[in-house]
Amino acid sequence: MPEISQNKSMKIHTKVHTLTTGKDIDLIKLDDVVSQTLQESGISNGMLIVSSRHTTTALTINEYEERLLVDVRSYLNRLVPSDDKYLHNDIHLRDCPLDEPENAHSHIIAMLLSSSEVVPIVNGELQTGKWQSVILFELDGPRERTVNIQIIGEV
Ligand code: ZN
Repeated sequence: MPEISQNKSMKIHTKVHTLTTGKDIDLIKLDDVVSQTLQESGISNGMLIVSSRHTTTALTINEYEERLLVDVRSYLNRLVPSDDKYLHNDIHLRDCPLDEPENAHSHIIAMLLSSSEVVPIVNGELQTGKWQSVILFELDGPRERTVNIQIIGEV
């Protein structure tokens, strides 16, 4: 029989985190801001949703290991080369300002990845494994970016 909590109040806590990213593809660890937001929320059981708010950023949960970060950047650059021919990069043929960046490859990589991740919270702890980090992919940096962190659950 599953345990059903009673007499606990539900809460929704939201934070928009702003950060400045590095150039081209940059991978940024969000563990500290995610943990801090969970602490601030006071929520003990529920779920945390992290969302990327841009068309050329993405999110993943994986190992933040220096050599692996070099590997993933190099792999994505081989998979979707920035110097291929893309229709989106014909800026003069689009209905947009002429100083738009030629960033079709950044959008395509973002579409191959995820734009949000969900992590369960049990007894005040994020249920991520020892080697798992919440990682933001900047795919067209450097830029100022925002990430939405929303926590829903019992206080
Ligand atoms: Zn674009």
